[in-house]
Amino acid sequence: MTIILGIESTAHTFGIGIVKNSNILSNIKKSYTTEEGGIIPIDAAKHHQENKHEIYFEALDEAKIKEEDIDAIAFSQGPGLAPCLLEGMRFAKEISKKFKKPIVYINHCIAHLEIGKIVGAGDSEAGSSVMLYVSGANTQIIAYASGKYRIFGETLDIGAGNFIDTFARYAGIGFPGGPAIEKLAKKRKKYVELPYKVKGMDIALSGILTNLKQKLESKKYSLSDLAYSMQETVFTMLVETAERALAHTGSNELLLGGGVACNSRLQEMCKIMCKERDAKFFCPEKSLLVDNGAMIAFLGEIMFDKGIKVSYKNLDEVDIKPRQRTDEVDVNWK
Ligand code: AMP
Ligand code: MG
Repeated sequence: MTIILGIESTAHTFGIGIVKNSNILSNIKKSYTTEEGGIIPIDAAKHHQENKHEIYFEALDEAKIKEEDIDAIAFSQGPGLAPCLLEGMRFAKEISKKFKKPIVYINHCIAHLEIGKIVGAGDSEAGSSVMLYVSGANTQIIAYASGKYRIFGETLDIGAGNFIDTFARYAGIGFPGGPAIEKLAKKRKKYVELPYKVKGMDIALSGILTNLKQKLESKKYSLSDLAYSMQETVFTMLVETAERALAHTGSNELLLGGGVACNSRLQEMCKIMCKERDAKFFCPEKSLLVDNGAMIAFLGEIMFDKGIKVSYKNLDEVDIKPRQRTDEVDVNWK
């Protein structure tokens, strides 16, 4: 029986989750937001530093466990914003030293993927699922093959969440922009044609962003029509490439993850595509889609159980990896 504490701090969210035998005992988080303007890495890191203790004790309280009961501390090593990652790592090392417990370092994107197991993804006879991972900084189509999570397709420029947030900021909406854009899209009157940029298995978003900004400036279109058209266009691009990855890998499962996956229209479009090709669709609940500590603890437990950990005596070996890519990680816990 193991109890793992997971720390998430790659970007806007500081989260702590506690997992015991694949069950989530607590999942507490606090996110840096702005009224206007985007995320400033140093300010987000300051937010994490100021809130970490409160979140930590709340997570312990809710899980009804004592600090000394923790068997290991898992933390997000990357990819992410360096100042934010450092806050998480320092806190992980502090707890590790204090209680002489090992550390497990985690790739944030793979944690988003592995948490799909909690809703049954990856259990089917057809083997592993294809994952459409759509978050702020990352947008990737991932599938497992020969010891690594391979990236079948991805954004060639900016992540879909950052794209939505940038457009929202331009329209005077604060961070995060995604939920406000989703609400606006529901009030639309018509679809406005936008560029459609799928290149093989990859997508490109910056050209669409420029086009949207120009359309907004022209004052010929309502913000809700642009929000709606943006969602329809970009989500179709995502679903098209995800469908091609399903066909290519022969998988019959799609797992959706990342903060943008909270969008009900994106979920609906994925569901329709899966239904049409007789594939299963998986999507964890919202608290596990956005950045959170529970997914870090969840993968931390899987790795810890396979003996993948670093002793509190060797903490100098452990560092952050702001630019770590999903396909760099050796998946030696399967
Ligand atoms: P993550 O980096 O995975 O925590 O996801 C954060 C991103 O998800 C931000 O860019 C948000 O704007 C975006 N997001 C959150 N909720 C929604 C939503 N309902 N629709 C679209 N994007 C969303
Ligand atoms: Mg994320």
